[in-house]
Amino acid sequence: MTGTEKSMYIGGRWLPAVSGKTRRIFNPFNGQVVAEVAEGDRDDAKKAVNAARQAFDSGVWSDLPAAERGVLLYRLAEKIAEQSEELARLETLDTGKTLEESRWDMSDIAGIFRYYAGLADKDGGELIDSPIPHSESRVVREPVGVCGQISPWNYPLLQAAWKLAPALAAGCTVVIKPSEITPLTTLKITELAAGLNFPDGVINTVLGPGHSVGAELAEHPLVDLISFTGGIETGKTIMRAASGNVKKIALELGGKNPHIIFADADLDAALEAVLNGVFFHAGQICSAGSRLMIEDRVHDRFVERLKSRMAAIRLGDGMESATQMGPLISAEHLAKVESYMRVAESDGARLELGGTRPEAPELKDGFFFLPTLLTGCQGDMRIVREEVFGPVITVETFSDEDEVVELANATIYGLAAGFWTRDADRMHRVARRLRFGTVWINDFNVYFTQAPWGGYKQSGLGRELGRHGLEEYTEVKHVFHNH
Ligand code: NAD
Repeated sequence: MTGTEKSMYIGGRWLPAVSGKTRRIFNPFNGQVVAEVAEGDRDDAKKAVNAARQAFDSGVWSDLPAAERGVLLYRLAEKIAEQSEELARLETLDTGKTLEESRWDMSDIAGIFRYYAGLADKDGGELIDSPIPHSESRVVREPVGVCGQISPWNYPLLQAAWKLAPALAAGCTVVIKPSEITPLTTLKITELAAGLNFPDGVINTVLGPGHSVGAELAEHPLVDLISFTGGIETGKTIMRAASGNVKKIALELGGKNPHIIFADADLDAALEAVLNGVFFHAGQICSAGSRLMIEDRVHDRFVERLKSRMAAIRLGDGMESATQMGPLISAEHLAKVESYMRVAESDGARLELGGTRPEAPELKDGFFFLPTLLTGCQGDMRIVREEVFGPVITVETFSDEDEVVELANATIYGLAAGFWTRDADRMHRVARRLRFGTVWINDFNVYFTQAPWGGYKQSGLGRELGRHGLEEYTEVKHVFHNH
């Protein structure tokens, strides 16, 4: 990297941490240091909030015609597209995910900026029918103001793009904080944006731990909205912190997502979707279909086929094209996933495959865990109720539709669910009854920029992507004019 080396971007300038501290960033494949970045704390976050506040209040961004904001966002999309291979390699170095997955992320990200660039000037407000004679009522959307944005480590740049693009399109100014362990691609697109004449203070990127930098963004009285993606417990802490000045809050939290296979399904296609639904990024996906529910009549056959396919998944360096699954993000996270095997055992689940770190010597320096299959699971087991965030599938069986819908809904999560059937009536019935923000019929883990994404229940608050994602960054104003 160039200007970003050990710096944060605040008020249009690259600055080292006030404390002078730095942090080393590791490659999860081999534990080697790939970069050293600035390690901010509350003072850096405060500086960034002040810069964002000043930029917002000056109107230098929010008063621009929305179409002009769109032009800059479009240029940023083009830069991202030009640099997508470098960005993808950086993401793989930082997260361990396969290069193929990182390339998908990058093409999505350029598209997200293009989408919101185009949407920026499409909402001209509306005239509503006023009951008062000789008057006019207009309803307009205005930018919320200064937005604190906190993203996780599993999709570092994708999650940052879900937040940055709509906020900037709406006319907000932002302070974004990537996860402290995966900051490299967010720094890189900040660098791309810095070369594009966004006014100073519109985009600010701060680095550092959640408990200091993130907490400061959540608490700061000059921040109008906090958008957070991460775990449920962190989300609750942020809600409490945000209550100080009644900030708007957008939360994308965890998931434990049912993937239901009815016996009449296209089982070949369902099998592919089950594999794709979990083993992306070694299962470290909020929408992983890690809770598999199979109708009893086809259970044994399906499990046998799944097991043999899972056993063939090739683990390795995400940079190698033959690799199908990379490592987990860190030694700490590996230990957490591993500890769930003891939970599964005491729950009484049956270990069909995996359950340990691999023995291959070439994987010994990385944070690898084998694809793991647990059968004989029940809805009340901890291994079924909690988000493991690793390459682990639990299997439950059911015998009828009512039973499986009730079981699937009996969770604190409500991010996504999917089911497979050939029965058209059942498609409508089950989709309506599942209490999740996204429901996939005869597919799994399909998401795109145009469709809203977010959780029911404790999986979140608000929506990202699509029109809804832009609306999150706006306030609604009613202007009444008595002639
Ligand atoms: P995390 O909650 O540990 O951290 C997420 C971010 O919050 C990081 O940037 C971290 O520094 C920051 N943070 C931590 N403590 C904070 C605090 N007290 N105040 C403010 N910020 C704080 O989550 P993670 O481990 O990085 O990510 C994994 C979780 O994210 C999983 O639960 C996953 O399901 C969820 N996730 C959800 C979605 C979604 O779309 N719903 C997408 C990706 C990840």
